[in-house]
Order: sequence, then structure tokens, then C-alpha cells
Amino acid sequence: MSNCIFCKIAAGEIPANKLYEDDDMVAFHDIHPKAPVHFLLIPKQHVDSLAHCDASHQQMLGKLLLKAPQLAAEQGLSDGFKTAINTGVGGGQEVFHLHLHVLGNK
Ligand code: 5GP
Ligand code: ZN
Repeated sequence: MSNCIFCKIAAGEIPANKLYEDDDMVAFHDIHPKAPVHFLLIPKQHVDSLAHCDASHQQMLGKLLLKAPQLAAEQGLSDGFKTAINTGVGGGQEVFHLHLHVLGNK
């Protein structure tokens, strides 16, 4: 998606404070953190939201979810952390590229 800000971050076309990257996903710190640690995990492949996922996204979704606790631990969230996926306008989604919020150390 040429006009998607998270696709541009995934492609390295606009800067972000990345904490993890592999062939399938990128994690970067939220530009307006709502907790002392607040990062976003996104698939490199564009998909608008969780509501736009189907069986073809199953592996990507699993990888995204399993990466969250690893990165949370690396960020020092030993007590635990909060995850959120806002979906659709009614769910408070503002950027329409699927992303998992990870927050901690409140
Ligand atoms: P949503 O409400 O869509 O779930 O959350 C989008 C999140 O993306 C917000 O917390 C917002 O601060 C963050 N965000 C939006 N644009 C950028 C950006 O250009 N860079 C970074 N690092 N975070 C962004
Ligand atoms: Zn995108």
C-alpha cells in the first residue's frame, strides 16, 4: 500500500525507532507512548486490520503473537505487559495496517 505509513516504516522509507525486524515483521516504539514501554508489532505484508484477516494470515498472526512476549522480556517487562489490537473505527483504530500494541511499566 503506497500511502500506508506503517508499510513505509516496514520498508525503511520513513524512520522509526525499531527494536526488532525479520523477514515477516517489524517492531518499533510508538511515537506517542501511552506507557513507559509502548511498542507496536506489525506484519510487513499489508493487511488493513484483524477484521481483514483470513486463514491465509494464520501463520503471520501466530508469529506476531509469539514475538510479543519475547520482545516484552527484552524491554524489561518482567512483571507482565498489556497487548491490544484496535480494530476498525469503532475499535479506535487510527492506522489501517494491522498492529499489535504492547504496553508495560505503567
Ligand atoms: P491505533 O489507534 O491505530 O491502534 O494506534 C496507532 C498507533 O500508531 C498510535 O498509538 C500512534 O501513536 C502510533 N503511530 C501513528 N503514526 C506513527 C508513526 O509514524 N510512527 C510511530 N512510531 N508510531 C505511530
Ligand atoms: Zn500498510
